[in-house]
Amino acid sequence: RKSVWRLSTGSKELDEVLAGGLESQSVTEFAGMYGSGKTQIMHQSCVNLQIASKIFAETENVLEKELPNPKSVYIDTEGTFRPERILQMAEGAGVDGQYVLDNTFVARAYNSDMQMLFAEKIEDLIKGGNNIKLVIIDSLTSAFRNEFTGRGKLAERQQKLGRHMATLNKLADLHNCVVLVTNQVAAKPDAFFGVAEQAIGGHVVGHAATFRFFLRKSKGDKRVAKLYDSPHLPDSEAVFRITEKGIQD
Ligand code: ATP
Ligand code: MG
Repeated sequence: RKSVWRLSTGSKELDEVLAGGLESQSVTEFAGMYGSGKTQIMHQSCVNLQIASKIFAETENVLEKELPNPKSVYIDTEGTFRPERILQMAEGAGVDGQYVLDNTFVARAYNSDMQMLFAEKIEDLIKGGNNIKLVIIDSLTSAFRNEFTGRGKLAERQQKLGRHMATLNKLADLHNCVVLVTNQVAAKPDAFFGVAEQAIGGHVVGHAATFRFFLRKSKGDKRVAKLYDSPHLPDSEAVFRITEKGIQD
């Protein structure tokens, strides 16, 4: 087994909840209502992958062997990827924004079939010599939600989502990637039923994601991220901010 490395979210508090940062060889889900910061965290992660001091590994060896010229794949299903925002965050972090964009492959998926196909094609990018170390699906669930409506389609939707999650987990494991997915939740989670039942994908996504966050808005630019149902980390919360510079404490 290759050794795990971690990517900073940009917020120390959020990294601490994750015991050091976003983990490779895992799928991490960010759920939350509109404007809760899911897409901002995805953009920031592409920027941070290009900053050596934002990548944490136990040995120098891992950095040298695994992370030379790392690249991201951003599968955008909602048309919300913004190169200008990458440039702004890169400037905030003091790195060359064009360099970040050059190392970020963006694929716009217009439906769930394209989304699934793009995820399967990442393997080919890697075989072609691209050191893909970060894979983002923003949003994991919107296309599925739009296409498979009603009870009669539920089984098919869950089956396809399950297959898609299996593709992502395999990428994470085989290529030591950080995989991040977003999942919009329509309403505040019901205290009784919890988040898992209400986020689209429910238990299919829940069982396939190692780390699950629920994001919510707080005062001003503040956001609260709650980690829940992790197999080996306690449930806990972090407060972070979304500023012009990006994700910060
Ligand atoms: P959705 O479910 O609709 O996709 P989301 O969780 O992806 O929502 P984001 O797009 O990540 O939400 O967050 C949008 C919020 O991020 C804005 O409401 C604003 O508060 C903040 N934001 C976006 N761009 C900037 C910026 N350049 N400077 C400061 N804050 C920003
Ligand atoms: Mg979004």
